[in-house]
Amino acid sequence: MKHRIEPFENLVEAFHALPGIGKKSAVRLAYHIAVEDGFSGIKLAQAIEDGVELVRKCIHCHNMSEDELCSICSDIARDRSKLCVVQSAKDILSIEDSGEFKGIYYVISKLEDMDEYHLRSAVKGVDEVIFAFPPSIATDTMILYIEDKLENCNILFTKIAQGVPTGVELENIDIISLSRAMESRVRV
Ligand SMILES: [Zn+2]
Repeated sequence: MKHRIEPFENLVEAFHALPGIGKKSAVRLAYHIAVEDGFSGIKLAQAIEDGVELVRKCIHCHNMSEDELCSICSDIARDRSKLCVVQSAKDILSIEDSGEFKGIYYVISKLEDMDEYHLRSAVKGVDEVIFAFPPSIATDTMILYIEDKLENCNILFTKIAQGVPTGVELENIDIISLSRAMESRVRV
């Protein structure tokens, strides 16, 4: 009979099901928690529960938030004339780290999920929409589509420039490249 420790295997499987965690890493993490440091496991369990329960979407921009409005949308010091469109709320973290952008954001993951009415209300008072998408044919299509939907809103459409290689996600771009890309954006 095969030697099995079911709770351990379940733990390995749970880690392995997460993005970016291979089988070996899953075993290492499960072993650490189950055998070496149970306390870190309890802390992790609590953090996971809080993360799942307490992180929600900002009703205005879809950024991650603890409250109805995220800290960026509720910050009166932000420049509401510049709106940066990103594909993932994770990208907001990267752009905020670069410190280059003082405007507001809007998250559109997929065109299928886009609510045109909601987007139109988000761009009220905005004079520049900056697309901070990782360059690809799919994102170029998204840009054209969104631009078309907002055609009569009197908005300048730009996208982040050089320094962002094709097919690379924003979270994997170093801060200096991202700052430069944001600074030297081009018209679309
Ligand atoms: Zn927000």
